[in-house]
Amino acid sequence: MAIGARQITMAEDDARAGRKRPQRGDRVVRHARVGHQPGGAHRVQIAVQIAHGAAIAARMTETNSPLDTTRAQIAQAAKLAGRKPGDVTLIAVSKTHAAAAIRPLLDAGHRVFGENRVQEAATKWPELRAAYPGVELHLVGQLQSNKADEAVALFDAIHSVDRPSLVDALAKAMDKAGRRPACFVQVNIGEEAQKGGCAIPDLPALIDQARAVGLPVAGLMCVPPADIEPAPYFALLAKLARDHGLDGLSMGMSADYSTAVTLGATHVRVGSALFGARASATA
Ligand SMILES: *Cc1c(COP(=O)(O)O)cnc(C)c1O
Repeated sequence: MAIGARQITMAEDDARAGRKRPQRGDRVVRHARVGHQPGGAHRVQIAVQIAHGAAIAARMTETNSPLDTTRAQIAQAAKLAGRKPGDVTLIAVSKTHAAAAIRPLLDAGHRVFGENRVQEAATKWPELRAAYPGVELHLVGQLQSNKADEAVALFDAIHSVDRPSLVDALAKAMDKAGRRPACFVQVNIGEEAQKGGCAIPDLPALIDQARAVGLPVAGLMCVPPADIEPAPYFALLAKLARDHGLDGLSMGMSADYSTAVTLGATHVRVGSALFGARASATA
């Protein structure tokens, strides 16, 4: 099925990620107000225009697989922003999907996947990894400190480092395991009470702590607020990363990854555009 058709059937509300997706035909592009946007407004506007163009282009390539289409959109957004497509890693978020749904992507040569639950990943991935060498697994969901050991053993990157107690637990787990998955500090970029992520004012101290205890801090991650144009939040995350000398930017999901790429995303986390809608809105 083509990506345009898929998007209509996507679950409207992804409670875990906390995002509501606009339906096709919606014309609401509300503008977020983010405090500090150095030179951002113009770039953000361009990014929005580019993303809309990319979405149209993607609908025209109906014979391609969702994976091909997604890769093409990433490449197009990167080029339009003067970036190299190879600088953007596509994380195929396979949460809730069984091995049978994941294999076609592995067969097509894709190797970078994301899961949001340690337990689910531990059940699904050992077998797939044995069958397909070179898999890189990213944890994109919230992590409890008591699962740090298991997460460090299973994942190659952790995108949800968001509090001092978790930093300590991960440092201990990494020392014990002698294995150091790349860490992204998750930022509560829209300052939403119900969302995970470090508050923006607490970010400098958390990054300092993570570096001091030896976590390999690769970059920042965010899930912007639902129902609002995400570009200003992506721009803000990019600025925060620059301020802290971090290169990695994990931002952009099915509904907005092209916009994220134009604003500097190095890792996009794409689920439903690749796998179709998830069965449960809470998954
Ligand atoms: C589920 C999830 C994604 C993928 O969401 P889609 O909208 O299906 O692309 C990305 N990031 C996080 C943190 C998620 O939980």
